[in-house]
Parts: sequence; structure tokens; C-alpha cells
Amino acid sequence: MKRIGIGLIAALILILLAAPTQAPAQSAGPVTITLQFAAIRQGTVGLVRVAGEDLAEVRAVFQERVFQFYPDQAGFTGLISAAMEQDVGTYNMQVWVRHGDGTAERIDQDVQVNYGEFGRFDIILPASMMPLLQPDINQAEKDKLFNIAGRFTPERYYTEGFILPSAAEQIGWFGTWRLYNQSFWYQHTGLDMKMAIGTPIVAAASGRVMLSEMVAIRGGFVLIDHGWGIYTGYAHLSERYVVPGQWVKQGDVLGLSGLNGRSSGAHLHWEVMAGGVWVDPLTFLDLGLIAGS
Ligand SMILES: [Zn+2]
Repeated sequence: MKRIGIGLIAALILILLAAPTQAPAQSAGPVTITLQFAAIRQGTVGLVRVAGEDLAEVRAVFQERVFQFYPDQAGFTGLISAAMEQDVGTYNMQVWVRHGDGTAERIDQDVQVNYGEFGRFDIILPASMMPLLQPDINQAEKDKLFNIAGRFTPERYYTEGFILPSAAEQIGWFGTWRLYNQSFWYQHTGLDMKMAIGTPIVAAASGRVMLSEMVAIRGGFVLIDHGWGIYTGYAHLSERYVVPGQWVKQGDVLGLSGLNGRSSGAHLHWEVMAGGVWVDPLTFLDLGLIAGS
């Protein structure tokens, strides 16, 4: 009796052990994750594709931010972004998949983040602008922007892709460490283009105006939501022709360039936000992101 009892228990354990390995066969088959890059640099984006049968929802957690993925012809696509201020290294990306039958799974994927190669630059501002260097003012403006730009709008508005908002000369690059008045370090959040005050500035892509107002550091500022977690910002504008809630198309004039906020010369500061962080506008444009890609 005793031997039979042990045999039964052993058989039960075998069945229990076997059960979890049979579970995936009941779901919709294996999920494949494809990175469209070998590595991404600090302050850049990367496309991730997820394929599999009967995918109902896909999201990823990367650098402690949640990225919504969106259905396309091949499955789901997501745009992940590496924060410019986060360390170089290998990060675990958790991809969470929910199937149409209600089953869910998590797949872990390593993502390599490389050095952003950011330069450094000294800037001297007049004494009147010193208050704009205070960390609390910088943090407050960042919070205001990302209270909006940290959200994922499920629709994709950027039907024709993205263009530069001006053809003017580029004079200041993304990520540069700037030492202001030999006392405050800030990393540059966008791309600077030199132009005379009053130069027309156009929308980089279609979208919805979320902000159009004067703010402390960016001066006359317009923020556009392009959907899928992508936003563009246009700073130091002398005139703004758009209002919050307004829909714009790529190439529409948003306003005129200017010299206000924390600025020592007439220029446009253009910034791109993706997945809740600032990313390099030029490498973002190189991605050639268009609807359906
Ligand atoms: Zn700038």
C-alpha cells in the first residue's frame, strides 16, 4: 500500500510539473520580438516589433517607463526611448502581451543603450536671466511639459512623417552639457536654429496643439501632440498663431521665431519628446517614421 501511495504521489507531481509546460500550447503560439536596431544611444528612440497570433494588447516597460504598442499590418509596433540622462548599459525591457483569449505573458528582452556622445559648452547669460537658471524653475517647467508629453495618445496623427520646422542654420545640438554662468549645468533638450526674429515656424508633422503660451524658460511656446507618445515643442516664439485644441497639418505656420525666455540670441529651439523623455530631433528625423511604417 505504502509503495502504491508513493507511486501515486510521484505521478501527481509529474502531472503537476508537466502542466505549466503544456499551457503555452493552449495560447496562440509563440510571440516574437524584433528590435529594429542593434543598440540605441542615450536620448534616442528605437522601433520594436512584436508578432504573434491573436495579439490583443502589447506594452513594454523600459527604463521604468511604460510604452504603449500599436497594431499594424505585421503585429504590434512600439517606439521606445532611452533617456539622455540615464546611464549607458544593458537594460531589461519587459514586453507584456495579452492575447485575444485572455491569456497573458511577459517576455524579457535586453536592450543595449550606448553613450550619447554629448559635447559641452559654456554660456554666459545676463544677470537679469539668472533666476531662470534656478533648478526649481527648470523642474517646474519640465513637469508642466511632461504632464502632457508623458501621455500616450492612442491615435496616430503624424500621417506624413516629420520634417524640420525651419531650414535655418543649426547652431546648437541635443544633449550638449551647458555650463551657464559658470554655475549651473543643464543638458540641452532640443535643436537650436539661428534665424532673424519674425521667421515663420512650421509644424513638423500633423497633430493637435496642446500648449500655446508664454513659459519662463522657453518663452513663447507651442507644444503639439502627434499621437503614439510623440510630441514636438517650439520655443522662444515672438508670435503664436495657434491655440490649444487646434488641429494642425505638417507645414502649417505655428508662429514666428523670436528672442524671449532663457535665450541669448534670436533662434528657434525645437524639441522632440517620445515616450516621456526628450530625444534627439535629428536622429528622430533619420528614423523616417511615417504612418504605416
Ligand atoms: Zn535650445
